[in-house]
Amino acid sequence: MRPPCSTHCKKPIAWGPTLQALRSIALAAARQRTEATALAAALRSALAELTNNMRAEEQHALPLARAVLTAQDWAEIDRAFLDPDNPDLRQRAQAELHRLFHGVGMAASDPIGVVDDSAGQPQPNAVAGASSDWLLQARDVESCYGRIKALKGINIRVRRGETVALVGANGAGKTTFLRTLSGVQPMSAGSVVFDGEDISQLRSDIRVRRGICQSPEGRQLFNPLSIEDNLRLGAYTRPRRQVEADLESVYGMFPVLKEKRSLAAGHLSGGQQQMLAIGRALMGRPSLLLLDEPSMGLAPLLVQEVFHVIKMLRDQGMTILLVEQNALAALAIADRGYVLETGSVTLTGTGRALIDNEEIRTAYLGM
Ligand code: ATP
Repeated sequence: MRPPCSTHCKKPIAWGPTLQALRSIALAAARQRTEATALAAALRSALAELTNNMRAEEQHALPLARAVLTAQDWAEIDRAFLDPDNPDLRQRAQAELHRLFHGVGMAASDPIGVVDDSAGQPQPNAVAGASSDWLLQARDVESCYGRIKALKGINIRVRRGETVALVGANGAGKTTFLRTLSGVQPMSAGSVVFDGEDISQLRSDIRVRRGICQSPEGRQLFNPLSIEDNLRLGAYTRPRRQVEADLESVYGMFPVLKEKRSLAAGHLSGGQQQMLAIGRALMGRPSLLLLDEPSMGLAPLLVQEVFHVIKMLRDQGMTILLVEQNALAALAIADRGYVLETGSVTLTGTGRALIDNEEIRTAYLGM
């Protein structure tokens, strides 16, 4: 280890007492001795503290570590993380997390993947035959950021088992559309019918239970948590009895994740992090998988690997809505595609027809 620079040193932030207080309140809520709102407030405040803690680590601890640790030190840290008997890095932290998971799980009004096996049942609100070919029908969907209308009446449909690509320039509204389907972005007009049910008014967590699972732009992993915990979080709506089998199936698809299952997600390379983000979405057992820019920021070889995974999922019959800046690669594996421009669909057709379209070739494919 190289000698540290004294200006980097900061007092470590104590996270233990917050965790302990949070555990008590989660257990009290589980025993119905306190209101769920108190638990929500405690979780919110703990999350804010954790965020500050992580920010402080990013600003102070990590630069200091980068300045003073050698490659050999990093290798030892990796080894310690992988060591199942290390009391500081594994057992104690995991025991805390498990207790917390259990407390939160018990306090939830609906069963979640960490506690028992009776997931919330769909509430039928059928507007069309559930057996219809169309798994997803978005009609005249609008969405705004303040006074800016980002989606101006989008009509997009996806058949069961289809891979549909959504392509377009930066700022066209692709991400906003996926977030609107997931229910995390408010929809100001239009409707979304999924599997024969109008889900326009449903909360995002209920939409996940219905089978709409998203791998978001930028991956949004929980970097300090282990790879396995990240995957388990993707299964929070699933009955606990299914989680282990689903985990094995994701590991079967991405063996590297199994190999590194105990490592913090932040240790993975960009390509592996993308696999983890897709794996986490698969843990929700999607019937519609939303992939937002899965190849973003990856080296060409890794881009190929990611598209190979998407092809594999497609061949297994997964229904996929794929947003990509890499329009050529996306359209090449898609059954159909939509071109989005400033919040409106301007063109649609089979993947092949769009690739062959002169306008598309010039505007998006750089040909
Ligand atoms: P990119 O490939 O750059 O992510 P995109 O096609 O996914 O582009 P969106 O991110 O959905 O496009 O953005 C659609 C429009 O909404 C853009 O004009 C963008 O500037 C605007 N926008 C996106 N997010 C916000 C936000 N949080 N607040 C305000 N405007 C936003």
